[in-house]
Amino acid sequence: MVGSNADIKERVNAVRERIALAAQRVGRKPHEVRLVAVSKGRGVEEMIEAVRAGVDAIGENRVQEAAQKRALWPASMAVPWHMVGHLQRNKASKALDLFDIIQSVDSIPLADALSHLAAQKGKTLPIFLEVNASREGSKYGFPPEEAVNAAEAVAELSNLRLLGLMTIGPLTDDRAQVRGAFGLLRELRDKINETLKLGLSELSMGMSDDFETAVEEGSTMVRIGRAIFDLKKRPFER
Ligand SMILES: *Cc1c(COP(=O)(O)O)cnc(C)c1O
Repeated sequence: MVGSNADIKERVNAVRERIALAAQRVGRKPHEVRLVAVSKGRGVEEMIEAVRAGVDAIGENRVQEAAQKRALWPASMAVPWHMVGHLQRNKASKALDLFDIIQSVDSIPLADALSHLAAQKGKTLPIFLEVNASREGSKYGFPPEEAVNAAEAVAELSNLRLLGLMTIGPLTDDRAQVRGAFGLLRELRDKINETLKLGLSELSMGMSDDFETAVEEGSTMVRIGRAIFDLKKRPFER
């Protein structure tokens, strides 16, 4: 059963409040953190409700699902769509047509393909590099020690605009480990800025179970699914 739309608005407000409190704890401003509603498995009506409640962007992790929803999306409802899931190269062209930002660029061949396709379509695509900051074997993303070289390579691609780094926190209750992974992503961004002078501002990190820690560690963009759409669903059920 779909929860009532009033619940979605309440949950968006509650998430915003928790972001604000976490930001205050470390002397940051709440508006420094954008809220992306990750809507995989949810219907268009629920997504519209989240947008009405003021989320900054929609996040999807599958090209096919996003295409189906985009076809139903009301033209009057302007909001950026972010790709946050692993992208296969053979779907890169379709992804470029559907998404405003691709957060999950996890290989140089994929970055190359996206830049070429963007050039053909007369676009410049804003992207994030995904980093496997927790080094979990099941995850996509550049290993931390390759992040600087990857940023250097991607910065040369003429039709991509690198905005920052993205990571998925480790799936553990160990808060120190979670904090460590987010702190590492921030350090990598700062190192990239120091050595390559790219001026990257963005850190996409923090999901329903760990976004407050991510905000304390410098997140500029949290990606929230369950805490907005469904409190009952377990982590990583997809
Ligand atoms: C599903 C997903 C999210 C949101 O996760 P929740 O735990 O539901 O908040 C964030 N980022 C990515 C890449 C996802 O696949």
